[in-house]
Amino acid sequence: MSAASPWWWSERGGGSVLAFTSRGSGASAGPYAGLDLALHVGDDETAVRLNRAAVIGELADLARVPQDGVTPVFMDQVHGSEVRLVTREEELLGPVPSSDAVVTTLPRVALFALVADCTPVLLVDPDAGVAGAVHAGRPGMLAGVVPVAVAAMRDVGARSIRAVVGPSVCGRCYEVPAEMREAAARVEPVCAAVTWTGTTAIDVAAGVVEQLTRADVATRWLPGCTRESQDLYSYRRDGRTGRFGGVVMLTDTSPDTP
Ligand SMILES: [Zn+2]
Repeated sequence: MSAASPWWWSERGGGSVLAFTSRGSGASAGPYAGLDLALHVGDDETAVRLNRAAVIGELADLARVPQDGVTPVFMDQVHGSEVRLVTREEELLGPVPSSDAVVTTLPRVALFALVADCTPVLLVDPDAGVAGAVHAGRPGMLAGVVPVAVAAMRDVGARSIRAVVGPSVCGRCYEVPAEMREAAARVEPVCAAVTWTGTTAIDVAAGVVEQLTRADVATRWLPGCTRESQDLYSYRRDGRTGRFGGVVMLTDTSPDTP
C-alpha cells in the first residue's frame, strides 16, 4: 500500500472491488494538476499514462491480484445510451467503440467511467459475475443509459444488482435555463432542482438514483459535489481540467482471503 492513496472512496469484498479516484496527487500539471485519467482533454499523454498505471497498480493491490493481471477498459464517452458488452477476451482487442456504459462478465477486467461533474455509476452482481460502469451526464441520464446498462447486465445473467453512485455536480451547483430544466423534468421529474441562489437547476444524480430504484437496483449514493470539492475535478468550476474515475472490477479471489 502506498502512502498516498488514489482513492476518494473504495470498497473491496464479495468478489468485487469498487472505487472512485480523487484528484489527489499525480503526474499531471497545470490546469490538469493531479491524477488526471483522461486522454481527450488536452493533458500530456505521458502524464496521463503514468496516472493510469498508478491507479491500476493500486486497484490490483485493493483487489489483491497481481498488477499485470488487471486489464483496464476506458470508454470513448459520447453522452449517449450505448452499452459496450465485454464477455470474451477477444472483445477487448481493436478500436474502442463509443459508449457511455460498459458491462463485463470477465474477472480482473477493470471498467472505468471518467467524469468531471457527470455522474459515475458502478454496478455489480458479484454472485452472478457481472459488473458495469456508466457515465451519466444530463443527456445520458435523460437518454436512459443507466436502465439500459442494468438491462444489459440482466441479459448476461445478473440477478441481484447493486449500484454505487459517485460524486458529481450537485443540484445546487448545476444551473441551467428554465426551459432546459422543464424538458428534463418531463423525463425525470425528480431532477428538477434549484441552485444555491434560487435559480433553475438540474440534479442529474437524483435522476440516476430514481432510475436505479425503479429498475430494482439496491443503490448507495455517495455524498460529495465535484464543484464544491477541490479533491475532485469539476468542469463547471474550472473549465479546462482533468477527469477522475469510477472503477469496478470482478475478482476471482475469495472475498475473505486474508
Ligand atoms: Zn454542489
